[in-house]
Amino acid sequence: MQLAAGVIGQVLTGLALAQTGLSLEQVRALPPLPAVYAEEPSLDARLLWLQQRLASPLDAAERYRSLRLLFNEYYDAHRLSDAATVCQQHPPLPDDMLFRAHCLLAAASKPEEQLPQLLALVSEARSRGNRSMAASLLKDIAWLQSQLGDIGGAFENLEAALAEAPTDDVALLTDLMMDTATSYIVNGDEGYIRKGIALLSSNRERLERALGDAPIGIDKTVLRENIQLTEFNRGIAYALHLSEYANALQHFDRVLTEPNPYVEDALAFAALAAAELHQYERARAYLARAAREASSNSGPVVQQYLSCYRQLATRHWHPAQGVNACLNLHRDTATEVQLDIYKRLSQIDDQAIAMAGLKGLKTLFIEKLEPQLRRRGSTAASNAELRRLQRESDLKSIVLQQQAALQSERDATNAQRQNYFIALSLLLLSVVLLIALSWRSKKTLAEQFERLSLVDTLTQLGNRRYLEQHINRELAHLARARRRNADAALGVYLFDVDHFKSVNDRFGHGVGDEVLVELARRIQAVTRDTDLLVRWGGEEFLLVARLDGEAHGRQVATRILQAINDTPFVLSTGDPLPVTCTIGALCLPFVAGSDSDLWTELVGLADLALYEGKRTGRNRCVMLQNRGLTTNDAVKQALQMPLQASVGAGLLGLSSSADASG
Ligand code: GH3
Ligand code: MG
Ligand code: MG
Repeated sequence: MQLAAGVIGQVLTGLALAQTGLSLEQVRALPPLPAVYAEEPSLDARLLWLQQRLASPLDAAERYRSLRLLFNEYYDAHRLSDAATVCQQHPPLPDDMLFRAHCLLAAASKPEEQLPQLLALVSEARSRGNRSMAASLLKDIAWLQSQLGDIGGAFENLEAALAEAPTDDVALLTDLMMDTATSYIVNGDEGYIRKGIALLSSNRERLERALGDAPIGIDKTVLRENIQLTEFNRGIAYALHLSEYANALQHFDRVLTEPNPYVEDALAFAALAAAELHQYERARAYLARAAREASSNSGPVVQQYLSCYRQLATRHWHPAQGVNACLNLHRDTATEVQLDIYKRLSQIDDQAIAMAGLKGLKTLFIEKLEPQLRRRGSTAASNAELRRLQRESDLKSIVLQQQAALQSERDATNAQRQNYFIALSLLLLSVVLLIALSWRSKKTLAEQFERLSLVDTLTQLGNRRYLEQHINRELAHLARARRRNADAALGVYLFDVDHFKSVNDRFGHGVGDEVLVELARRIQAVTRDTDLLVRWGGEEFLLVARLDGEAHGRQVATRILQAINDTPFVLSTGDPLPVTCTIGALCLPFVAGSDSDLWTELVGLADLALYEGKRTGRNRCVMLQNRGLTTNDAVKQALQMPLQASVGAGLLGLSSSADASG
């Protein structure tokens, strides 16, 4: 392996020629490589083949491809410094974005330094119209963020990646859904864990459809294994993260119906779940099957904790069962597993075992969780993240409670106990300080994420950028719909909450936020799934709704005003708060044939109508009709004039509807 890297060093310096005029198209157009390379199973042999090829005369495109492959070989084998050397000596082409992103990830720089560069690549991918690339980069960013402990930021970017990924990129979507679900389950609070489980089940359905649609002759093994993985992961979510063992068993049982890579793991966790449910016969059957089928292809790390779980299961009916496998877990064991096992140990009523569990928790905290907390200072704080912090401090309170219980035991010496207690208290204090720090610093990075994100974090609606990305689709849909139905139209509604400042002033910003969330929910409840509702900014929302003519447009407005006005909002204090809003609206087509060029101006006109609604008493919808604007310039001029002047000149018509219900 080392030898190969040395040879490559020489090859690369020999190759440091400028690739003038080379384009990615030329590289893509190359014929496939021979099977001796493509089908060679040994990494070393493939590396050797590439090196020999690079030592021979090649044209620029061939050379580029071979270097790129060499990079990929190193990268996939986690030989990152060899991979980074390839990039340094032979930088990727500007439009080879995947290669550029992987070069960034292979570089030895700190994640904090990689993030801004990856963010810049996301913007570039978007401006090149490459949505799959933008989505998979967002996924990489999310991964780095979770390494840094910025769980809230990671969630947001996974969600942004899901929104960005083109719906026909099945492989990417599957990948993203699995990653998002795992991240929710491992890092989230209960709400997120359940969201993760739901995501896994919709992923299973998607995979099953893909399996049904796959052409005959296609190898379906990967799809089937992915289906089993969605089941296994749901089982884990229920067993390790929610302690809902009956649900967990349902999913593990589904994994066990046919041979797949997750059977051995599923058997151990199923035994534990059955034991927790006091179904000892059933638990013993899983263990017996595990012993019969022991054909392990997992590594020593997994082997170790699976035996631990089998021992923990057995202890339920056989209290003399030792738990030695749990006492020397491998360092590389996933944090979620360590956390779970140590918690279980600390609850066992054998003092030595409980103490070992507590020590494990303490080490885990010092080595893994605390460094993450420290790095969190410069990253975004979101609700999800705070709840995770809450979970971590729950962990500390478990440690403290258990410690208090043990303290009353006779055997440990007083001094030992005191030291232990002081150490834990100090840790707790430092956590509290770190939480306070991470709240205070909202740095540029957080703002950049905000700008790149497509989802509004407060209401979970899309934001302005999301609308900009989707409006052309709606305009195209309108054009198609009108070929079938001449009345088809698109309603554009701009909403602004009435006297919202006074809500904030009287009840505080938190209540203001609650009102916005509820408002978004109510509007959503009376619109269709195909309608686009986004948070336009502050307390303004914008709805784009598919309509059957203008009368329908007025009905939609009335329905929304009623949904908001008919029942007062209920604050979390239980107090009712009447809320109203004003809507400015218009229907497309507005200027036949030009609407897509005039989108910004049309929203501007809706804003004028909204202002008119405010001026004439609020709590109403003012709709604009085009009476005489025939050119783009005329629309732009109207935007500069007071609305009443355009109406007076017969260019625009107005109709106002106050909420019918009063
Ligand atoms: P009007 O009926 O004329 O619209 O009166 P208004 O008080 O609603 O006036 P305006 O639209 O100018 O005020 C908007 C206020 O919304 C000001 C700002 O503090 C508040 N706001 C904007 N975004 C948020 C938010 O995310 N949360 C909260 N709580 N308040 C917000
Ligand atoms: Mg406003
Ligand atoms: Mg307002």
